[in-house]
Amino acid sequence: MPRLTARPRLAAAALALVLAQFVLAQDGGAPSGPVSSPETAGYSCDTTKCKLPACQCASTSPPGGLSPKDVPQFVTFTADDAIQSYTLEVMDYFLANRSNPNGCSPKMTYFTSLSYTNYSMVTDWYVAGNEIADHTMTHAGKPNTSEIYGNLRALNAFAGIPMSDLTGFRAPMLSWNGETLTHLYNASFKYDSSMTSATLANASNTDAFWPYTLDYGIANNCLEQSDICQGRLKLPGLWELPMYSVFQPNSTSGIHLMDPWLDGNPDEVLDWLKWSFTTHYEGNRQPFGLYSHPIHLAVGYPGVADPIATRQMLQTFLDWVQTHENVWIVSNQQMLAWLQNPVPNAQIANVDAFKCQSPDIPASTKICNGVSANEAGLLNRCNFADFPWQTCYYCPSVEPTPDNPVPSPNKGDTRHTVPSNCSTAFFDPIKNVCTCSSDSCKFTDQTKPIGNYSTNLGGTSSDGSSTAPAGAEATAPMKQNSATIGAVPSLAAVLLAFAFAILA
Ligand SMILES: [Zn+2]
Repeated sequence: MPRLTARPRLAAAALALVLAQFVLAQDGGAPSGPVSSPETAGYSCDTTKCKLPACQCASTSPPGGLSPKDVPQFVTFTADDAIQSYTLEVMDYFLANRSNPNGCSPKMTYFTSLSYTNYSMVTDWYVAGNEIADHTMTHAGKPNTSEIYGNLRALNAFAGIPMSDLTGFRAPMLSWNGETLTHLYNASFKYDSSMTSATLANASNTDAFWPYTLDYGIANNCLEQSDICQGRLKLPGLWELPMYSVFQPNSTSGIHLMDPWLDGNPDEVLDWLKWSFTTHYEGNRQPFGLYSHPIHLAVGYPGVADPIATRQMLQTFLDWVQTHENVWIVSNQQMLAWLQNPVPNAQIANVDAFKCQSPDIPASTKICNGVSANEAGLLNRCNFADFPWQTCYYCPSVEPTPDNPVPSPNKGDTRHTVPSNCSTAFFDPIKNVCTCSSDSCKFTDQTKPIGNYSTNLGGTSSDGSSTAPAGAEATAPMKQNSATIGAVPSLAAVLLAFAFAILA
């Protein structure tokens, strides 16, 4: 742990109190028992009318009439809140050296809020193949449309994320309601992932439904949201990806949802995770989730002890998970692509969404594009007092806010934003040029035949080849950050960012 001088120690102590309150607030929202049941939900869905890819009934069985043994066991490792060097290091630590059954490195979904986010790292993370999703601009509990849509506009303008790829939402503190869902529906979001499944995946009458569309209403959280259940709120085509709880074996009250590793010692939590995963894997293979605030797994954070034992436990768990056949660690977008067109494991090699392609751009090409070799030295620094950040695009004259998410450029800043017809990795925001025409944007396909590439944390896959290239660009943000921005935020700002990140 870094040494702190007297004043920051006081600040840290004061913030610890604030943190405690945040933690309490978060714990208050955790499920302590079942939150739904088919009886109370009053949910019914007409399977003769509700058909993929547009409609899917809530069901504990896999989609497409497939047998559980024939479908992938999806594991979604999601992250919430600000994107910083600390948080990307965490996701890299767990995922960069792993491989899915087709040799591709696992991808994940980052529900991003923009307070304390370093925008250039969002670009890097996206260009490395991960999903960026909406978590409101300022982590608002009951967000208005400005909070939800403003986040999309700012992510597009200052992180270069195409609007068409911003398709998912998670409610801050998981405090979703009918109004928020309606905002998502009106803006053509593809999915929400805020609802809770708090019954064992293999129990009778469980609410651990496979993801479903809201054409026939809501089937989760119906003991808490009775005013909009029973089919009262129907939002055709909007998917709900329930968040599946982790359970303590043989306990009716030991239910954990976000950051379950904060709720017990590493040995205990490893048991909970393994036991809960098994109820999915040996049952109906509903997706299994690791829902994280990665800041709790970060190392080197000022004033906070490094959670080394917890990190090692989680790494051990993922190693164990990957000893099972047909396990895929995926982003929500990847999983949704399969859900809309489910194929059995025997045909899984044909699923385009699971393939890995990297933009074919020589390292000598100097453009600010989210690839560290290309953008080195080209990042634009936006010197806001509370939390300076970097971007490939222009720095706004004032900080983006929900009411003004895309302010005009700082005086003299002539950089441009990504046009909708150019891939982020190929756009030069300084010259305002798309460096490829539609037929010359090339991507190198790194997908391998289906096999066992998963036990390769040492960096070498089972076929002997290095696994570094697929994850190489994903490791870039940390190096870049520590070199260029690490010393800039004040300790108070960093601690505030941590306090902020503790919110769900
Ligand atoms: Zn959050």
